[in-house]
Amino acid sequence: MKPLSKKVAAIVPSATIEISNRAKKMQREGIDVISLSIGEPDFDTPKHIRDACIDALNRGETHYAPSNGIPELLSAISEKITGENNFSCKPDQVIVACGAKDAIYEGMEAVLNPGDEVLLLTPAWVSYEPCVQMAGGKIVKHAVNQKTFQLDDSLLERVTTSTKMIVVNSPSNPSGAVFDKKSMNLIADLCQDHDLYAMSDEIYEKLVYGKGHISLASIGDMAHRTITINGFSKAYAMTGWRLGYAVAPKEIINEMSKVQQHSVSQATTFAMWGAVAALKGDQHCVEEMRAEFDRRRIYIMKELSRMGYETAPADGAFYAFVKVEGDDMAIASRWLEKGHVAATPGSAFDAPGWIRLSYAASMDRLREAMERIRDVGGN
Ligand code: PMP
Ligand code: GLU
Repeated sequence: MKPLSKKVAAIVPSATIEISNRAKKMQREGIDVISLSIGEPDFDTPKHIRDACIDALNRGETHYAPSNGIPELLSAISEKITGENNFSCKPDQVIVACGAKDAIYEGMEAVLNPGDEVLLLTPAWVSYEPCVQMAGGKIVKHAVNQKTFQLDDSLLERVTTSTKMIVVNSPSNPSGAVFDKKSMNLIADLCQDHDLYAMSDEIYEKLVYGKGHISLASIGDMAHRTITINGFSKAYAMTGWRLGYAVAPKEIINEMSKVQQHSVSQATTFAMWGAVAALKGDQHCVEEMRAEFDRRRIYIMKELSRMGYETAPADGAFYAFVKVEGDDMAIASRWLEKGHVAATPGSAFDAPGWIRLSYAASMDRLREAMERIRDVGGN
């Protein structure tokens, strides 16, 4: 047989999904594994959102819809962005995709040519690099300061004549860090000075604890050069719905639309009606979930510190990023095999020496997990 695609062969599988699959397999074998490996809210999607989807199904919203999304959802997103994120967005600057991940992939395809360099701030979530690779781009990594998890001028040294885009993810998966105004301004200045595009993944914008969220596109002329990524998975506990979106200048959306038309066609029609209810409905559910994550965050950070672990500032998202002494892969394996706690090694995020724990699990499970980690140790 002739060899399969070299491009795909060069891509590594998603570590977050692989470890979670491994934990699920152990659970099926009857082992009581506590899975803190995947970033997924443990809450059910709020009832009014589920009801809106069921109503849509029952009234026959089971057909193809416009590829970029139903007009009601495009309007709801444009109103949300204009009202909350401090930059102007018209419905034709929005595309609804099958999850934020799909929106990221389409955005990369729309912007990149072979050989274009994309700056990635590490530690970084696992899927940015493969999306860039699949679109033919080349990743150039820049590690953020591992004490403050903020940026400084050393970022400028990574720019070459081939740099086309920078990927920003604040609040960050995996570190939980939130970029302050200075870091965000530095990125904006860099983009403006070197005529770069930015992809700003703001999927955790609603999960911040004490710090405010800043949308990159709200700074200077950034709205003209930024693809803002967002979705419903994290804020509304809708991971399995596979709904996300991108907001960008119309010319970029038009290119993303072509990729979407020839791949997934559109997001699921009746699911999009649920998303309309999510954005237009009462937002108390978002605050309730955020407050519960905050409670767990405070607990887990206290416990980790009591055990002597250093951690990244957990100002957003639902991850504790823990510094370990030694090989993070070996330590995460020990936590899983001996302690039956699944966690994701930092190496998967280009941060060897760290381990990511998702605290999107019940307090009882978190308490048990902390005891098990204490028992099997790490440092
Ligand atoms: N961006 C980040 C930073 C994430 O953590 C995730 C979680 N999977 C995604 C994007 C993708 O989310 P979605 O479920 O909407 O595809
Ligand atoms: N974003 C989550 C995580 O990092 C979900 C899994 C994934 O899509 O990578 O664990």
